[in-house]
Amino acid sequence: MADLNLILLGPPGAGKGTQAEQLVEDFGLPHISTGDMLRAQVAEGTELGRRAKSYMDAGELVPDEVIVGMIVERIGLPDAADGFLLDGFPRNQQQAEALDEALKLLDRQLTAALLVEVPDDEVVRRLAGRRVCVKNPSHIYHVEFDPPKHEDVCDQDGSRLIQRDDDREETIRRRLEVYHAQTEPLIGFYDRAGLLRRIDGRRSPDEVHAHMRATVATLRLEEQL
Ligand SMILES: [Zn+2]
Repeated sequence: MADLNLILLGPPGAGKGTQAEQLVEDFGLPHISTGDMLRAQVAEGTELGRRAKSYMDAGELVPDEVIVGMIVERIGLPDAADGFLLDGFPRNQQQAEALDEALKLLDRQLTAALLVEVPDDEVVRRLAGRRVCVKNPSHIYHVEFDPPKHEDVCDQDGSRLIQRDDDREETIRRRLEVYHAQTEPLIGFYDRAGLLRRIDGRRSPDEVHAHMRATVATLRLEEQL
């Protein structure tokens, strides 16, 4: 069976994490989150981790080559022989090209880039509506989708609910600007390569999942032909 090498793209608030968890379960692929992997390598003190940490300590971005090196190493592990779902990388066209090159050396190539599309206003609606308990940050509400019984009061312990700085509209809009500036060229890149698959992220998580699963199942069939 051909390997299924996927990347997952989409704005903050698109529910990529949840979707990734379900997809990897559906298709038995490892979920490769570059953020998690970077933290793990740093914690374990591997050679790559030490290199990454020296940049992070200096307040610099970890260079693409370090991250690509980490991904290549990860993709070479036995559980990724049939494919992988890459999340959080690439973030721009340069990184995409570096990934392509690295995969070519492994005699592999991307199967598809799955893009979960959510309009900016919907992202803001989802994220800016979040309220978090001051006492226990795992008590999370949403003013519209999951409101507490009493405004700004935690149902579970009566503590005050606040909006985190990360969830403020201006912060979200700034993140979206960065996302668009970096990702639009990437989307064009994968579109031109015939690898882009668009998923309507405005639907419910279950519907988004069904659409993604069907899309990936079709890709797998096409790969077998
Ligand atoms: Zn609480």
